[in-house]
Amino acid sequence: MNAGRLLAATPLGLGALRGLLATVLRAIGDGRDARQGPIARGGPAEVAEEVRRRIPLVLPLEGAGPERALTTIVEAVAAGAADPSNPLCAAHLHGAPLAVAAAADLAASVLNPSLDSWDQAPAAGEVERLVTATVAGLVYPGREEADALVTTGATESNLVALLLARERLGPRLRVICSADAHHSVGRAAWMLGLAPPVGVRTAGGRIDLGALAQTLAIVPGPHCVVATAGTTDRGAIDPIGEVAGLAARRGAYLHVDAAYGGGLLFSHRRARLLDGLPRADSVALDLHKFGWQPLPAGLLAVRDTASLAPLSLVADYLNAPDDQESGMPDLLGRSIRTSRRPDALKMAVTFQALGWSGLARLTDRCCDAAASLAHMIAERPALRLLTRPEISTVLFRPVAADAMPVPEGNALVAGIRRSLLADGKAVLGRARTAEDDRLWLKITLLNPDVTPAHLDRLLDLVEIATPRTVPAAA
Ligand SMILES: *Cc1c(COP(=O)(O)O)cnc(C)c1O
Repeated sequence: MNAGRLLAATPLGLGALRGLLATVLRAIGDGRDARQGPIARGGPAEVAEEVRRRIPLVLPLEGAGPERALTTIVEAVAAGAADPSNPLCAAHLHGAPLAVAAAADLAASVLNPSLDSWDQAPAAGEVERLVTATVAGLVYPGREEADALVTTGATESNLVALLLARERLGPRLRVICSADAHHSVGRAAWMLGLAPPVGVRTAGGRIDLGALAQTLAIVPGPHCVVATAGTTDRGAIDPIGEVAGLAARRGAYLHVDAAYGGGLLFSHRRARLLDGLPRADSVALDLHKFGWQPLPAGLLAVRDTASLAPLSLVADYLNAPDDQESGMPDLLGRSIRTSRRPDALKMAVTFQALGWSGLARLTDRCCDAAASLAHMIAERPALRLLTRPEISTVLFRPVAADAMPVPEGNALVAGIRRSLLADGKAVLGRARTAEDDRLWLKITLLNPDVTPAHLDRLLDLVEIATPRTVPAAA
């Protein structure tokens, strides 16, 4: 039979899949060898042109067959990738998936359970239950009423959290978060028809408690306070316990966006940075950051499973009341989506394979690497460190940029980042500090294999890319 039309989970399909997997893995390796660095060289126009050269016609009249198609397209994507498993690719909260999680995700693709009804996912639904109960227990230790939902990431988690807050407190809800909160909080408020969030001043990237208390006193309620445990720009953790105290005094709903910092729950050494987290009504977590899962792997933990009631909905073909009475679990009320990938499968396999201690070790390695990186920057006279990292994000800039007026200094920093990207040498991020409008280079460490030698190399690359002569002011 033509291997191109075999269904994956059939006996013949599984046989064919074994061969196709060898092809895919070879294409990924060949593409990576062609690229050689952390990102494709040449910038957007060159990369796009190379993709079009390799794939002149994506839908030909007659198919090229699975081997050719996989080789062509997987190789093009791998050759033109930004590769988070390369230690010099450290811009974003863009994690490199573990091999074991990628293998588990293949099972999800082949078996393809859909988590909108029991009769599409009998066992996968139960595996999701095990994972969500475990995560609920991690965030809310010892609390039986706690629960968790699987989401596509913190963007969806923040949206659902604000939805739950609005359903509890009404449509006049005002969202209050720090000025450094993730943009998805504002977008969620917009999608839900709420007023734009009130941004509270930060100090050192953390929400200013005095300003928060003042905002809560001035802005009429009801309120939903959103704290961030690990800001995207600098990995700052809002003082959750104190924020929870202020929120409770005003009867506010408290959501914590712990998309990044939530990973610290795995670390015995660092979990105390999240003290107060169990006081939140809901908590967003992303296991595609710390957690090393293929995208997507989001979670929303809630203090009380009863708070999820607004998500419940009866669609006769998926969760008829009589089916539910006969014992079929209702999966539809556990998401705002209908058809849903079993993302809990790869999480379950990863939890089981690495254990709590394995995840703790990986998390600690990234955070320890960030601490050494900060130390290395502080020792280099040509570079200036912003602050010691709380998690694994390090902001710094060349002192040459500080010697210039702010706009020119910022242009210098932005230029260094783009030149390293265009040369395919390093992938660094950027972040702006609101207090002085300065632009910084950002290194986000989610790669547990990063060594001091890699970090030294990254800093060397930045120094080499820093123009020696200060460009004349226009
Ligand atoms: C990554 C991140 C988000 C967005 O999450 P997605 O998984 O990309 O949807 C939101 N908030 C914070 C703090 C994040 O780090």
